[in-house]
Amino acid sequence: MFDSFGRKIHYLRISLTDRCNLRCRYCMPAEGVAWLPHERIMSLENMAKVAGAAAALGFDKIRLTGGEPLVRKGVPQFVTMLRDIPGLDIIAMTTNGTLLAPLAADLARRGLSSVNISLDTVDPERYAYVTRGGRLDDALCGIRAARDAGLPVKLNVVVDPSRDSRDLDGVRAFSDELGCAVQTIRQYRLDQGKLDDFHYDRPPPCARCNRIRLLATGELKPCLHGDAVVPVDLDDPAASIRACVAMKPAHGGAASNHNVSAIGG
Ligand code: SF4
Repeated sequence: MFDSFGRKIHYLRISLTDRCNLRCRYCMPAEGVAWLPHERIMSLENMAKVAGAAAALGFDKIRLTGGEPLVRKGVPQFVTMLRDIPGLDIIAMTTNGTLLAPLAADLARRGLSSVNISLDTVDPERYAYVTRGGRLDDALCGIRAARDAGLPVKLNVVVDPSRDSRDLDGVRAFSDELGCAVQTIRQYRLDQGKLDDFHYDRPPPCARCNRIRLLATGELKPCLHGDAVVPVDLDDPAASIRACVAMKPAHGGAASNHNVSAIGG
């Protein structure tokens, strides 16, 4: 389907949870954030219902995000639910990889198309610093397990423009060894206007926006850099999707009522 600016909107990012097992400095405050109560989290069955309505409207790509999607139970079964929906060509995931190793083969078997794994550095001390306590080895095990399971792997590197390129260079060298791609993400703040910076792969320029988001609360979000949401009407999720697409702005502004961790970037 197309939005009011003629952009083809065919990509739905689904935040399965606002929870995460890491505390990355550019994503979350040190004290963490107040998690959503379980009763506010949409069931996977209802999320699949929204995905089905989106597919019927021409959406062909789904990305599973979080928080950290793999902290939620039932993700492999959810991938199977999505795989059974006609028209969904791509079912991808963005994860920090630390919980992926034991699940990668099963996710691939069930039809996961590809996985983007966050890796901002290959220096164990820097990794522990950036993630506030994460273990680099856990992420590396997840990356290797995904690759061994035959999943296309892309390494997401959040780049702080004020720092030198040592972290990025290290990840690039590691990706060459493993034969996987690197995607640079310019560090951003939601409460500052959206910046289209072509030195980085992400975020994409708004002129080429192709997505909307489903939050773990069951609200649709037209734009990452905006506060608008559309609660999903489960009796008519297609109408909610149409309303969400109609609300998309030409360009992202500043947002204040959601943390990145609750949106999934
Ligand atoms: S800021 Fe909003 S309009 Fe721009 S690319 Fe992101 S979601 Fe699309």
